[in-house]
Amino acid sequence: AKELGRGRYQIFDYTMSALNVDRMALTGKLKQAITQNEFVLHFQPIVEIESHSIAAVEALIRWQPSEGEMIYPGNFIEHAEETGLIHEIGNQVLLSACEQGAQWNRQLTHPVTIAVNLSAIQFENPELADYIRDVLDTTGLPPELLNVEITETTVMKHPEQTEKLLREISDMGVGISIDDFGAGYSSLSYLMRFTANKLKIDKAFTQQLTDRRSDQIIPTAIINLGRSLNLQTVAEGVETRFQLDMLYDKGCDYAQGYLFSKPVDAETIWPMLQAHTLL
Ligand code: C2E
Ligand code: CA
Ligand code: CA
Ligand code: CA
Repeated sequence: AKELGRGRYQIFDYTMSALNVDRMALTGKLKQAITQNEFVLHFQPIVEIESHSIAAVEALIRWQPSEGEMIYPGNFIEHAEETGLIHEIGNQVLLSACEQGAQWNRQLTHPVTIAVNLSAIQFENPELADYIRDVLDTTGLPPELLNVEITETTVMKHPEQTEKLLREISDMGVGISIDDFGAGYSSLSYLMRFTANKLKIDKAFTQQLTDRRSDQIIPTAIINLGRSLNLQTVAEGVETRFQLDMLYDKGCDYAQGYLFSKPVDAETIWPMLQAHTLL
């Protein structure tokens, strides 16, 4: 019995430290990824449903270690948030997204907006708005062509500071989208305190658009809510023609999803931007 007890203790201890070693290793690798520029942006078009023209592209981060496979944000963003590394990563994302956006807009005849995801943790930095202003100045991207995407959770986490920063960002002329709308639990009154321009319907709801009328209730309600709050609506995760047609019927403004394009690298999206319309 004594031995069993000791064995158990050892197994427990080993597991705990192995977990910590994993976490420390990940932290180290993320730090290295920051200094060695291992992050790349992929881009996914956001299409105006009425015209099928590309109005914007969303920048989505990927981690490409010098050896090994590409790592998706679901596998490292949370850890970057917990360690605070998201500040540096987020700054790099903002800078390279705006550089790319400025370059494209110098070459295109139609303007294209660049949408960038911001983490709730980035709003703990009181200088976030100043940083964005600097990035717009140095890259030359017009503020109107930048859109920042925040989730309901961001809004809930640090309401005062977030509200203040969002007002500053919005006053510069930068657009604000509420991401994953419907997936969280923010109250409407909360939402209305913020100066947003767009509501992005979470892909879970887009994918509920089937020919069953009962499934259409929530997505339809969100589109109508957006309109009554004077926000444009963007449906994410649009994969089928059926979903697109339904969204059009219900008055949704923009669509994003595999139906038009997966997120792809800058080189691959460039001919789509030049063509300007998809499908
Ligand atoms: P998100 O902002 O909601 O981004 C949309 C996600 O849906 C992306 O996953 C995209 O690849 C995926 N998606 C797009 N169209 C479709 C579709 O038709 N069907 C399906 N099933 N999925 C689709 P991804 O790129 O893996 O990003 C996951 C999340 O990681 C993002 O969700 C966002 O919350 C976060 N993220 C990505 N880039 C950044 C970044 O630069 N900074 C921060 N803080 N978060 C980021
Ligand atoms: Ca997003
Ligand atoms: Ca989203
Ligand atoms: Ca999401």
